[in-house]
Amino acid sequence: MRVVDLIAAKRDGHEHSAAEIGRLVEGFTSGEIPDYQISAWLMAALLKGLSARETADLTRAMVASGRHLDLSSVAPFVADKHSTGGVGDKTTLVVTPLVAAVGVPVGKMSGRGLGFSGGTIDKLESISGMRTLLSVEEFTAAISNVGLVVAAQTADLAPADGKLYGLRDVTATVESIPLIASSIMSKKIAAGANGVVLDVKVGRGAFMKTLKEARELAVAMRDIGRSVGLQISAVLSGMDEPLGWAVGNALEVNEAVATLKGQGPPDLLEVAYTLGAQLLVMSGKASTTDEAARLLAGALESGAGLQKFRDFVVNQGGDPDFIDEPALLPQAPVQVDLEAQSAGFITSIDAEAIGRASVEIGAGRAVKGASIDHSVGFVLHRKIGERVEEGESLVTVHAATQADAQMVLPVLREAFRLGADPVPPPPAVIEVIS
Ligand code: URA
Repeated sequence: MRVVDLIAAKRDGHEHSAAEIGRLVEGFTSGEIPDYQISAWLMAALLKGLSARETADLTRAMVASGRHLDLSSVAPFVADKHSTGGVGDKTTLVVTPLVAAVGVPVGKMSGRGLGFSGGTIDKLESISGMRTLLSVEEFTAAISNVGLVVAAQTADLAPADGKLYGLRDVTATVESIPLIASSIMSKKIAAGANGVVLDVKVGRGAFMKTLKEARELAVAMRDIGRSVGLQISAVLSGMDEPLGWAVGNALEVNEAVATLKGQGPPDLLEVAYTLGAQLLVMSGKASTTDEAARLLAGALESGAGLQKFRDFVVNQGGDPDFIDEPALLPQAPVQVDLEAQSAGFITSIDAEAIGRASVEIGAGRAVKGASIDHSVGFVLHRKIGERVEEGESLVTVHAATQADAQMVLPVLREAFRLGADPVPPPPAVIEVIS
């Protein structure tokens, strides 16, 4: 089986066998197949597509390239959640403690920010002392002792994906639904959970800009999950405007804690309850999503979710004092308000522009491996559909310097569109594919 023949077969639109896909993945992971041949194959796969069967085989081959956690001795059902990435998306920090507080253990591996979208690991590292690099033993012990762990992806899970993703990033081959679906699912499957809920973001501040693309990705991931016996469902959620009010690492941690105290933004809570309900039904803890939503609301109202979040922080070495005293989180020295120049209703907020502006002031990375400033970001005071009067603040910029704040004010002004008539707020949850 010559690699050049496999490249030609894909170029000409033929379907590979499982053995051929295994050969490509194994050969690339071991270093036997050079980057230039895999790059050519990736481009052929992007242009000609992969069937559902090929996508599942590619995923299985990537899982087989590394360690596959077996959590069956840790708990009968372990839940996981994945977001395709958005702006202001701190949902993990709300949904995972609530689900764990209801009695379903959560073991989740997360990523760092990517492009204009934030990442849970960066947010967690705003917390003094918080460890996100855990050994597999620490990961599994946290599931049994606390019922909740969120850690950085370890390099020994689906290493083929790490290598392939690095190549896709520089060969314009990221934007392929089968390649994205297999990349995400290989990591989810390797991490060993029994049930996964996928939060597929759609809109201006998401990688999937249209409902059609988002549905396609959701279905591709769901089908891969099913093919390996995973319980899985997908929620399509709106990302035309940022989720919640805060964008930026410490600001988002603060908002997540406020949400667990019952003072969070309604869109964030709706997405969190919808995702959490899917996990509770999969686990058998609830028989309907309505019952599940009641259990989650009960965990929020009783404070059990907040207590679970506290236990999780302490277990991973974090200092929990910020939960009672938010000022202990990193604070930006400069705060500047963007005031509305006229009265009106907010008709749109460009989430991608806001995400990019947050990277500009240091909340995300312009280049791989760069350090970030956990304290900086934005707090929105108005969302789509709300009225603002002239001179009222639309958003507060939290920046390291006045120059940084002044640099992004014009971008933010452009990101907020006002009109004379009210528009309905966009839906937080668009559809559930289960
Ligand atoms: N996130 C991933 O993990 N993989 C992709 O291919 C795209 C986004």
